[in-house]
Amino acid sequence: MIPLIFSWGRVRVNDRGPAVAKCCPRCNNDVQLRLVTATKWAGLFMIPMVPYGRQHYLLCPVCRTGPQLGPHELGVIEAIVERGGTVDHVELEDVTALMDQTQMERLRETWQPGVLEPVLAAYERSGIDSSEAASIIDEACRLVAEGCTVEDALLRASLGMPG
Ligand SMILES: [Zn+2]
Repeated sequence: MIPLIFSWGRVRVNDRGPAVAKCCPRCNNDVQLRLVTATKWAGLFMIPMVPYGRQHYLLCPVCRTGPQLGPHELGVIEAIVERGGTVDHVELEDVTALMDQTQMERLRETWQPGVLEPVLAAYERSGIDSSEAASIIDEACRLVAEGCTVEDALLRASLGMPG
């Protein structure tokens, strides 16, 4: 496959191909999430010359949203893309676990323990079974920071209700 390359400003976005078949949690379409790498370039006049920042995402081709990939899961996703995006069940679970780990690390960087820990504890007790745990916890943290009670925030976040 020839990678599709386009650019705007000084960020070049490289769609590297289909990675994982999944129902997009945002737009609810059954899609092949795509591995997308965004590279920032330092340029001379308008000519990009030196790449200096790379970020990798697993994006829905319909709504163009999806998680940023950390170093843990990037290698695994790259291997899947090499094969044309086929993935077995065990591998899919491994990738999902790695992505959860990365998202939890990001939550820890974003939220103070005073907000994150009570929400995490309530989530563990809640029995909510969702593959989007990190985004529910993130949304619940946001609501708690705005003054919601932890239980109420978690309920609203898990139901996708606006704060
Ligand atoms: Zn989508």
